[in-house]
Amino acid sequence: MSRVPGFNTRAVHAGQEPDPATGAVIPPLHLTTTYKQDGVGGLRGGYEYSRSGNPTRDALQQQLAALEQGTTALSFASGLAAEDTLLRTLCRPGDEILLGGDAYGGTFRLISRVLEPWGVGYRPIDLDDLDAVRAAAAQPSTRVIWCETPTNPLLNIADIAALAQIAHETGTVLVVDNTFASPYLQQPLTLGADVVVHSTTKYLGGHSDVVGGALVTSDAHWAERLTYNQNAMGAVNGPFDAWLLMRGIKTLGVRMDRHCANAERIAAFLLDSPAVASVLYPGLPDHPGHDIAARQMSGFGGMLSFRLRDGEEAALRVCERTRLFTLAESLGGVESLIEHPGRMTHASAAGSPLEVPADLVRLSVGIEDVEDLISDLDQALATVGGSPRAREG
Ligand SMILES: *Cc1c(COP(=O)(O)O)cnc(C)c1O
Repeated sequence: MSRVPGFNTRAVHAGQEPDPATGAVIPPLHLTTTYKQDGVGGLRGGYEYSRSGNPTRDALQQQLAALEQGTTALSFASGLAAEDTLLRTLCRPGDEILLGGDAYGGTFRLISRVLEPWGVGYRPIDLDDLDAVRAAAAQPSTRVIWCETPTNPLLNIADIAALAQIAHETGTVLVVDNTFASPYLQQPLTLGADVVVHSTTKYLGGHSDVVGGALVTSDAHWAERLTYNQNAMGAVNGPFDAWLLMRGIKTLGVRMDRHCANAERIAAFLLDSPAVASVLYPGLPDHPGHDIAARQMSGFGGMLSFRLRDGEEAALRVCERTRLFTLAESLGGVESLIEHPGRMTHASAAGSPLEVPADLVRLSVGIEDVEDLISDLDQALATVGGSPRAREG
């Protein structure tokens, strides 16, 4: 009986064949733009020019497809490059995108500032309201349902299987941005999604040293169109970036286990702080999306947000007072980060329906020793009268 290899086995081995020429265990980094032809049109392995195909990028794409259980993965220069290629493949002028409530600020900016002037519209929608989604998806102009779950930065949860059913009933395409969960915790294609998007910059790379994006699908039609457009539009990543991503991906599972365990401990700690008004983490039993998250994810992730009782002033102060948590945008690396979404990652959504609360702080919980992370948050919260430890003592 052959069994399908488990997630960690796929992460370590998919696309990672030792080099046939030398036996090098790690696939070589192919820093080349072009390939010698054996006579005109005599390509070796189909390689002609590195925008169209590069063995290092191909190895990464095989690894990504295996992780998401898709047939085709394509890698790009950034998450937004992947999104741009995807949306200009799926949509034409006159089409509309249903955009879940608090989508990533850059996704909102791409759609509202770049695509909308070319005639591709969008409608913000509450993905929890399935009747509203069904009614909007049934409009002839609706082409795409864009879902992020968990969302950035509010950690809302959408029901992927329910949205996939609506997409298939209405002939729309369900896209899931799986950046926050990573394929280790959630595999949207297995729940019926049509295309998965990643910013590989985040958990997949995992070490805050490479920017990249990916699309994964099992739909033969879209796979063919997207593969064509990856080359025709040209937003590919370079071989070195692809190589760094493969290296990071091999440890995704062990990193995610630690991210999840640390985030759970920190969520419990923050709940005890008198300065904290609420903690947004899908692992908490009273989180509105907890049951769906428990069903469609195998862990609750390393991202959490919290709101301060004393508003924006207190939120900014906490962000500026941590020492181990680094004040920075981005997420998903081994090191812990803290940020103020309203002023930083989501500033471009100010004044729009996707604006985020000013008293919100977002954490990307790293893999450090959790006691050190908790001590750091405790001393930062003490500056706004919210140290749980001082209260205990
Ligand atoms: C970062 C991010 C993106 C954009 O990816 P880049 O690699 O920065 O272009 C898209 N979606 C989510 C959820 C993200 O966190």
